[in-house]
Amino acid sequence: MNFIVAVDGPAGSGKGTITKRIEKEMGLVNLDTGATYRCVALQALRHGLTVENESEIIDLLDDIDIKIENEGEKDKIYLNGEDVSSEIRETPVTNAVSPISSIIPVREKMIELQRKLAEGKNVIVEGRDIGTVVFPNADLKIYLDADESVRAKRRYEESIKSGIDISYEEVAEHIQWRDKNDKEKKFGALKKAEDAIVVDTTNLTIDEVVEKIKELIKERMKMKNECIT
Ligand code: C5P
Repeated sequence: MNFIVAVDGPAGSGKGTITKRIEKEMGLVNLDTGATYRCVALQALRHGLTVENESEIIDLLDDIDIKIENEGEKDKIYLNGEDVSSEIRETPVTNAVSPISSIIPVREKMIELQRKLAEGKNVIVEGRDIGTVVFPNADLKIYLDADESVRAKRRYEESIKSGIDISYEEVAEHIQWRDKNDKEKKFGALKKAEDAIVVDTTNLTIDEVVEKIKELIKERMKMKNECIT
């Protein structure tokens, strides 16, 4: 069985934490599609390129090889064989990734890779356009959301914990800017799929969100199994 759960939502809505927990507790493979775009942004920055250098970034795509290892608490992300798991979370990449991920050939290449990574597996895939573009026929679509100030606070606390030197105001301003940019993309914009179930995490604990989503997954898996047998 190839069972696909799509989880979309803005930065700080809890996608990463929740999908990792579900991977651990339900044995679904978690695929973080944001990490793939972050690798492209990192490679562009390493070549001194910004979103203004669109054709040079497109040229780089042929020399970008991304591998994701799902072992342990945290995924390991490899860019051309190098472990870039930490570097792709740093501020320069976070600032560059949204505009770079708007370049259509970048999206086409990443979508192809994301579909390949999910092939033949039971997966929980998180991103912005998973239920709308990458897996429009997903078995279950969740749209995670939370109030902007709560999302900013979560991201700020995560950054401080990872040793990133940034103020709450900077995080809040950046999240607002990134969400706007992500929602206004011409292709692959952050958008709730029509058939997605909205889970507002503002006033819920991580455990409560995980339980809610696990119940939805169990229900849909049962339905799918009944249809097959
Ligand atoms: O999820 P994360 O914050 O790591 O995503 C980084 C950026 O990658 C997002 O702000 C968005 O611009 C882009 N992205 C995307 N489509 C996805 C996942 C991420 O455009 N499916």
